[in-house]
Amino acid sequence: MDKKIYVTKPTPVEVETIKSMVGDVWASGQYTNGGQFHQNLEKALSETLKAPYFSLFNNGTIALMIAIKALDLKGEVIVTPFTFPATVTSIDWCGLTPVFCDIDPDTMCIDPAKIESLITDKTSAIMGVHVYGIPCDVDAIQKIADKHNLKVIYDAAHAFLSHIDGKPISDFGDASMFSFHATKIFQTLEGGGISFKHESVKKKAELLKNFGLVDGIANSSGINAKMNEVQAAVGLATLDVLKEEKQKRQKVSDAYDDFFKDIDGIETFSSLSNSLQYYPIRVNKKKFGMSRDGIRDELEKQGIFARKYFYPLCSDIEDFKNHPSAKRENLPVASEVTENVLCLPFYGDLLGEDLGRILSCLESLK
Ligand SMILES: *Cc1c(COP(=O)(O)O)cnc(C)c1O
Repeated sequence: MDKKIYVTKPTPVEVETIKSMVGDVWASGQYTNGGQFHQNLEKALSETLKAPYFSLFNNGTIALMIAIKALDLKGEVIVTPFTFPATVTSIDWCGLTPVFCDIDPDTMCIDPAKIESLITDKTSAIMGVHVYGIPCDVDAIQKIADKHNLKVIYDAAHAFLSHIDGKPISDFGDASMFSFHATKIFQTLEGGGISFKHESVKKKAELLKNFGLVDGIANSSGINAKMNEVQAAVGLATLDVLKEEKQKRQKVSDAYDDFFKDIDGIETFSSLSNSLQYYPIRVNKKKFGMSRDGIRDELEKQGIFARKYFYPLCSDIEDFKNHPSAKRENLPVASEVTENVLCLPFYGDLLGEDLGRILSCLESLK
């Protein structure tokens, strides 16, 4: 059988570059605790993302938990069920209750029109996800937050370099979390970052990520959420090749767009997102003549592994499904979308033969 094609592949960096940078970390004798590489990456990303109060973490999930703690959230957080589990589990692991809100049928992000009816006297925040890098309706969400005195956190794990009318995505909300997991377009093996609106909150997060230590003495309850020097070095090397990867992904995205433009029953989203993180399609079974699951299975027979991001809904997770907001009848749009969305393989190296293989397999399903 042909070589397997997966949904993503790490943004390629020359192995010699990595060897040399890890060699430099070794030579420095400092492996973690905010060394030179950490400082350089934090500065570089702060500039790249146009995020003045930016902080690095050892992964995106812990980063979300730190955002929750640094903003001193309590009680309930209103969140989308159509996301990777980390969004919701970070709320739960901080001892708060996730309250599920339905999504907008066009953007697949949390639907502002459905938020207010979920607000109680326990609600402390709204957590939206810029899913596939498609921005949430940030203005409507902020309006609701201001009216009810709530904080806003964005899971921007898919939204590295997304922008809204030229404004960087990190301009919106009290905190935006970026994931630098190996499957993300900008990666540090494992890793994450947060852009904070206020410097004071960034300062608090900096304490929390290092055991709550002030001058070596624990001042508050903290945790270990520090990015190490090798992670930071990989990040610096990846930043250097990001532009090239984005150019290649743009070509892959254009080729998919071109292929799907005349196909009935397949909806694409590239015009809504500029992060080039995923290439989702939404399948209308009646019009296309085959279901999302059917397409996935046929691709898999050819060694092409598309992924059902995000299925099932987080509201179906055993630990969350008994909350009244998790009921399917309260989440009609999310319940439909999760059955019909498929993320196709998407990375720069697909250009050429592999992309051809995927397109001819899809062609045969029409
Ligand atoms: C990748 C991802 C995360 C988790 O990030 P990690 O860095 O792997 O902890 C959170 N939310 C979403 C939507 C993600 O895709």
